[in-house]
Amino acid sequence: MKRKGMGFPRFKNKYRMRSFVFPQMLKNCLQRNTIKLPQLGIVEFIKSREIPNGFAMEQAQIVRKASGYFVILFLECDVNVPQPVAQGFPVGIDLGLDQFLATSEGKLVKRPKFLKVEHRKLKLLQRRLKNKKKGSNNRHKLNRKIARLHQRVTDTRKDWQFKLAHDLALDAGMIFVEDIDFRVWAKGRFGKHTLDAGFGQFIAILSWVCWKRGVHFEKVNKDYTSQVCPNCDRHTGKKALNERVHNCPECGYTTHRDVAAAQVIRFSRIVGGGTLRRH
Ligand SMILES: [Zn+2]
Repeated sequence: MKRKGMGFPRFKNKYRMRSFVFPQMLKNCLQRNTIKLPQLGIVEFIKSREIPNGFAMEQAQIVRKASGYFVILFLECDVNVPQPVAQGFPVGIDLGLDQFLATSEGKLVKRPKFLKVEHRKLKLLQRRLKNKKKGSNNRHKLNRKIARLHQRVTDTRKDWQFKLAHDLALDAGMIFVEDIDFRVWAKGRFGKHTLDAGFGQFIAILSWVCWKRGVHFEKVNKDYTSQVCPNCDRHTGKKALNERVHNCPECGYTTHRDVAAAQVIRFSRIVGGGTLRRH
């Protein structure tokens, strides 16, 4: 994008990706290759695809990536989009840190290794930044390099999450996940790792992929998922974080701890929405 109007908004760190939203759009703001934005005026841009007929412009988001400025347009069309009905094979999903996720079918998905490698590279570069003089050309170059690597990590993670979401939706008629506020989670004992894992983004992607494939997606409110036996519903008490196996003293059911949690999440909706728990 090239600016033609007034001052462009400033971003905190000029190397990292930043974005902001124009919540309201001006009338007839879009011309062939320019867009008129509130407070900014007319800005030139390269249109990556045509705006379909019958859509009204709702919002615009300006995103700065390492590779340049982008504008994302949010369009709205006045039709009813049916949500997939709850039917078919139910799968529960438990998100965790040891494993990225576990399904009620016993599938365990590890956090991808390649991200670890990239993260290490990133840390190394950031450490090197300390030795570069402020305002120097070398520092500027290194900053650009870090920003590009950041972008690559973000893109790769998103790709991986999309593939995983499609895999999961392929085998399910309904998908249930625990309704978790990941921002609260991140502040708790898991700390920064939760943000690194990008759970919030994954849930958003999964819900979209499900909708696209006609799979019913639902967040369920369920406490004590790791403290209940999915087989006999006995409350088995709090497990220590390093306790990786669910072994029920009541019925003898044994499985991976996260798989058990995913099964509790799945069952929590299957019986008419009521809880199965006995206390
Ligand atoms: Zn049991």
